[in-house]
Amino acid sequence: MSGIYIHIPFCKLACHYCDFHFSTSLKKKDELIHALAKELLMRKTEFEHTTVDTIYFGGGTPSLLSISEIQFLIDTIHQHFTVSEAPEITLEANPDDLSVSKIEMLAQSPVNRLSIGIQSFFEADLKLMNRAHNSTEAIECLEEATKHFDNISIDLIYGIPGLTNAKWQENIEKALSYNIPHISSYALTVEPKTALERFIKKGIIENVDDDAAQEQFHILIDTLEAHDFVHYELSNFGKANYFSRNNSAYWQGKPYLGIGPSAHSFNGNERSWNVRNNSIYIQNIENDILPKETETLTTTDKYNEYIMTGLRTIWGVSLDKVAQDFGKNYKDYLLLQAESFINQQLLYIDNEKLLVTKKGKFLSDGIASDLFKINL
Ligand code: SF4
Repeated sequence: MSGIYIHIPFCKLACHYCDFHFSTSLKKKDELIHALAKELLMRKTEFEHTTVDTIYFGGGTPSLLSISEIQFLIDTIHQHFTVSEAPEITLEANPDDLSVSKIEMLAQSPVNRLSIGIQSFFEADLKLMNRAHNSTEAIECLEEATKHFDNISIDLIYGIPGLTNAKWQENIEKALSYNIPHISSYALTVEPKTALERFIKKGIIENVDDDAAQEQFHILIDTLEAHDFVHYELSNFGKANYFSRNNSAYWQGKPYLGIGPSAHSFNGNERSWNVRNNSIYIQNIENDILPKETETLTTTDKYNEYIMTGLRTIWGVSLDKVAQDFGKNYKDYLLLQAESFINQQLLYIDNEKLLVTKKGKFLSDGIASDLFKINL
């Protein structure tokens, strides 16, 4: 089983914190969509022996596409790939695009999962982040979307300057009031060269506070776990049967094909990434060139990736798998490196799986990098 990711590189506005690839000019939208369809055709041989089980429209803002554009891309996938009988088809959507009629039309389309970028229900947070929607739109789109879709995820951001724990708790409670089965939640991070970084440097926006973010992360875990959500990945919480199939496959090292500018792909041995520029991408595809770079992963790269993704999930890092796939010396190395974290109660071993404790969760990416091996 495998997945196809389609990157839609357009947004109405640039959110202050964002370092994804997108353009706020929609001038090349038609050309881009045709280039996406052509890239699917050009790369169909890469997936000829596998069945596509998930299709994910990410971005950027895929909800800027019309229903016929979405349908066209899904039809193109069906034309060139073997697709499972009941694929999970997710569309990332922003509240300001989800009018009543758009939601009704989406519900009639093959899209069966919405991932809505709510981020916050508070006007001040949305303004600070320069989101294109306001809190009324956040509420109205959820009221409507939940009438038509049962498989809905929303994104929420914590650690926003000025967001108190009480307001964060309100945000979570508001999300819970819609009875949605999946929540993805991230700490606001200051990426290099973003507007957020510039505003913080100039003193226009207060810096993010790691301690506050850590507290809010724990409030999130406690509140969602008390409402039957499983914290199945560091940033993801789902009710039973509603874990994202797309993301779970990615974390479990299954192959995926990334279509569109800046999209990444993985086939088990190689990782590749497309050029991060819409015009260059379109031009290359029109000239039958795949504008991608590829790297072949070494055993050490694969071990490092497995540690990084494994520690982020409830499936943990299987010590048997490490020994089997990478060799006993990797398992010995891992256990040696893990020892001090186990003593600090940041990691533990259960049933031959290395897992992060609740105390270690906020630090898990840093812990994982201390368990990495170096390519020599
Ligand atoms: S809508 Fe998403 S991709 Fe677009 S700028 Fe905002 S965070 Fe980035």
